[in-house]
Amino acid sequence: MAFRVVRRVPGWGPWAARNYTSDAAFPAGFRVPELPEVEAVARDVRRALRRSTIVDAIVRRWDVVTGASRQSERLLIGSRVDEVVRRGKQLALIGLDGSVLVVQLGMTGEFGVVPASSPVMAHTHIIWRLDRSRDLRFVDPRRFGGVTWLKDRAALEDRWSRLGPDALSLQSGWSDAFADSRRAIKAALLDQHAVAGVGNIYADEALALVGIKPQRRCCRITPREFGALGLAIGSIMRSAIASGGSTIRTYRRLGGGAGAFQASLRVYGRAGQPCTVCSQPLQSESVVGRTTVWCGNCQT
Ligand SMILES: [Zn+2]
Repeated sequence: MAFRVVRRVPGWGPWAARNYTSDAAFPAGFRVPELPEVEAVARDVRRALRRSTIVDAIVRRWDVVTGASRQSERLLIGSRVDEVVRRGKQLALIGLDGSVLVVQLGMTGEFGVVPASSPVMAHTHIIWRLDRSRDLRFVDPRRFGGVTWLKDRAALEDRWSRLGPDALSLQSGWSDAFADSRRAIKAALLDQHAVAGVGNIYADEALALVGIKPQRRCCRITPREFGALGLAIGSIMRSAIASGGSTIRTYRRLGGGAGAFQASLRVYGRAGQPCTVCSQPLQSESVVGRTTVWCGNCQT
């Protein structure tokens, strides 16, 4: 396989300032956190925050914070975290007082619990001091991610009602909202209002698995095909989570392990290489601005 597993080094290296315009521009080892990575972060943080109290919060950059003033209690200080939940690529910490912190990792975010003695990486924007000499840290070089404070769970439900169903557990009828549209199926899959949490890799892989060409219009997809596609998305997501929250390259989690390497991709990153099923060279073009790879023979 052509993929290299490269551990990203703390401090983020020189690429942090580059302007990424396509998947191909991402240097080896760099991973945009997708749903499986966010789920892995949620599990790490949930485990680490069990029976922990947030003692203090140090905000080093306020421009990553929305909804909270400089009043410290609004960042869950003094509270225990009752629950850590996820919808699509968004995480939320729910405090015992009912207030909520939504965390979005954006393109380059990391979020996790580390020993308080750990060196503070560049671009660490928020540090929550926990009991037992530990920190919860939010790191994000490019700052497309951020933290939003909400007053209660109802506000979270309102925010998340604008997202489509979660890609990890699509039920029958998951595609009803867009099944009659003339959009390309790939465009619908990447639209967080239609389905929450399907990223570029997973869209291409799921479409390859069920033999649907990414450019096919939603209205030309049968209910049976939508059913198969929903199952394929869930199964690819679950296998990525099982392998540590990464499909192709390591996404290093703060305070967690590195995602395992899984070289089982059918199409993503393999443009021009032979299809694993029929050996014809895979095709590639940009669909809704994203590099898209498919087999012209197996996918219609
Ligand atoms: Zn093929």
